Amino acid sequence: MEIRVIVPCFNEEDIFESTCSELTKILDKDSIIKKYTYDILFIDDGSSDKTLDIIMAKTKFNKRIKYISFSKNFGKEAAMYAGLTHSKDKDAVIIIDADLQHPPELIPIMIEKFIRGTDQVIAKRDRKNENFLRKITTKTYYKLINKFVDVPITDGIGDFRLLSQRVVHAIVSMTESQRFSKGIFSWVGFKQEIIEYENKTRVAGQSKWSFKKLIDYGVDGVISFNNKPLRLLLYIGLLVCFFSIIYILITFINIMLYGINLPGYFTIIFAILFLGGIQLISISIIGEYVGRIYYEVKARPHYLIKKCNVDNE
Ligand code: UDP
Ligand code: MG
Repeated sequence: MEIRVIVPCFNEEDIFESTCSELTKILDKDSIIKKYTYDILFIDDGSSDKTLDIIMAKTKFNKRIKYISFSKNFGKEAAMYAGLTHSKDKDAVIIIDADLQHPPELIPIMIEKFIRGTDQVIAKRDRKNENFLRKITTKTYYKLINKFVDVPITDGIGDFRLLSQRVVHAIVSMTESQRFSKGIFSWVGFKQEIIEYENKTRVAGQSKWSFKKLIDYGVDGVISFNNKPLRLLLYIGLLVCFFSIIYILITFINIMLYGINLPGYFTIIFAILFLGGIQLISISIIGEYVGRIYYEVKARPHYLIKKCNVDNE
């Protein structure tokens, strides 16, 4: 049995050493017990610090360390996709963050469950050590997104998970360029199991998520998975039309009965602003979809590799 751990790294020089030694320590021990071979594939996502140098130095002493280095920063989604694309021959793949926020101690448990026949072993964290604002935003986000998206998306579930070979093949076959992994993982299905762990704050380095990025990610989640926002626009449009017709009828009957009544400043302003607002929102939602079509049609590669020591794409 061959198992691969994929670690996306973007400017992780401060913590790389400890992550690498943690992982090898746990995997060395577990691979002997469960009789599998393993390697660790680090994806350097165009880091501007010494991350790549440190990884390359490691490969000299440890044959189990593999790496792919991107020509620039393509984002974590691209890094995971690259990792999976190059790991189609492995029996199972584990995706884990480089910052030790995902406890590597869970890996042996994941592999145990995989051996028993689970295709996706998903790690779920609680939200203990997070600040209030983030707790609130994520909570509302998940409530909202589950109303819009057809695939169920659970709070606390991230990219830390084990995927069996057939799940990897399924995910790699989804070549969309606007990738929303939370949805993609959920969409492929197969036998899933969840294990819980306690949330930890980052030990070193900085989170690459700003508040704006989180909001953008949320919008991506809604828009990249279905066309419900377009459907919503249709309903809003119908509703507005319905009330407009009633209002027009009332006004018309009024005119017929009592003659033209000029004052109407409020109604005109209301109609202009309200309808204008709805139209702007509608156009921008349609624009979001058109923009996505634009990117899909261009079909650019998800990432460009500068250097690597793995083959088999
Ligand atoms: N990461 C990446 N490319 C990016 C941003 C992040 O490969 O453009 C990696 C990062 O090195 C880490 C993981 O993705 O291993 C999660 O990033 P981060 O810790 O910043 O996110 P958070 O844990 O705050 O969600
Ligand atoms: Mg993190």
